[in-house]
Amino acid sequence: MDEAGTPIEEVIASIEEAKKKDLTYDHILSSMCTDPHPIAVHAHVRFIESNLGDSGLFPGTKEIEGRVIEMLASLLNYPSGTEPAAYLTTGGTESNIQAVRVARNLKNTDKPNIVIPASAHFSFDKIGDILRVELRKADVDNDLKVDIASVESLIDENTVGLVGIAGTTEFGQIDPIKELSDVALREGIYLHVDAAFGGFVIPFIEEKYDWNFKVEGVSSITIDPHKMGMSTIPSGGLFFRRQEDMDELSIDTPYLSTKQQYSLTGTRSGGAAAGTYAVLKHLGMRGMREVVQECIRLTRILVEEAASFGIYPVINPVMNVVALEVPDIDAVVVGLMRRGWRVSISRVPRALRLVIMPHISEETLRLFIDDFRDTIKG
Ligand code: PLP
Repeated sequence: MDEAGTPIEEVIASIEEAKKKDLTYDHILSSMCTDPHPIAVHAHVRFIESNLGDSGLFPGTKEIEGRVIEMLASLLNYPSGTEPAAYLTTGGTESNIQAVRVARNLKNTDKPNIVIPASAHFSFDKIGDILRVELRKADVDNDLKVDIASVESLIDENTVGLVGIAGTTEFGQIDPIKELSDVALREGIYLHVDAAFGGFVIPFIEEKYDWNFKVEGVSSITIDPHKMGMSTIPSGGLFFRRQEDMDELSIDTPYLSTKQQYSLTGTRSGGAAAGTYAVLKHLGMRGMREVVQECIRLTRILVEEAASFGIYPVINPVMNVVALEVPDIDAVVVGLMRRGWRVSISRVPRALRLVIMPHISEETLRLFIDDFRDTIKG
C-alpha cells in the first residue's frame, strides 16, 4: 500500500482501466455464470454491508435468507411441514465440501471414501484433499450418466457417501438419481446431489426427472442461485433432508450475536442473499420458466444449425449445455477466440462445450453460428 492515499477520481480511473480489460458476458459461451438481474444488483448493493455470519446484528437479512430458503425448498420438493435444514453458501464448491463433510462425520471410519461420477465437477478433487476423503470415480455410460454397476462395484465398508450430479458441468447430463437412491438406501449410505447448475433448470424444462428430495434416499442437495438463478455472486444453497445431519456442521460462536454457525465461511454476504431473494421474488416460477425455456430454445437452434454443417452433439442436450464433436478442436477454439468468442473444451470426451446462458440473445447466437461455421470450414 502507498503511504499517502489517492484521490477518489484517480482510484475510479484506475479501476475503470482494469474494468476495460474484463470481458462482458455477451460473447461468453463457456461460463455457467451470467449477468445478474438488475433487481438482484439493486438488492445486493442495498445490503452490501450486511454480514450473515453475525446475523443477530442483521435480523432483516436473516429473515430474507429464510425466505430464499423457502423458495429454493419448493424447487427441491423439500418435505412439507418441516422447516428446511439449509443455509446460503458461497456457491457449489462450499456446498459440496459441507455435504461431504457431513457424510464423512456421520460414519465412523479412518479411511473414508466417496463414490462420485467421473463427470463430477472439480470441486470434488478439492474436497478429497481438504477432507482427506478418498475419491472413487465411477464410470459413466454412453449417455454420460453415471453407471450404477460401476458405482456399486466401488462401494465398500469405508464408503461414507455417494454423489449424483443433476446437471453435469460439461454436458448438462442428469445422473439416475432414483437408482443411486436405491443403492444408497439399500447400503445405508449418504447420498448428495450436486444440482449447482441443474437446480435452476430442471424444474423449468418439459421433461420430468427424479432428482430432488422427492427421491427418498437423497440426503442433501447443492443448488446455486448465482448460476441460472441470475443472482449476484456469491450465492449458493445447501439443503439437508435431516436437521441432525446439518447439525454435524454446527460450531459454537461464543463472541458473536448468534450462538452457532453452520457455514464454512465466517463472514457471509447478506448482499447476495438479498440479491437472490429479489430476483426470485420478481421473476416467480413463470419468469424463471421463460428464462430457462428461452435458453433451451436457443440451444436447440444451435444444435440444428450445427447439424446443417455436419457438426453433432456428443449427447442430445438435456439442458442448455451442449458438447459438440468438432475435428481439430484446439484450432477451432483458437479460431473462435480470435473472433471474440469464449468457448471451452470438455474433458472426456473432448468436445466443444457451449453453455447458452440468459445473456445470449438469438441475435448473438446467430452471429456465433456464422463464425462457428466459417471457423469449421476455414
Ligand atoms: N457443481 C457443479 C455441477 C458445477 O457446475 C459447479 C460450477 O460450475 C460447481 C459445482 C462449483 O460451483 P462454484 O464455482 O459456485 O463453487
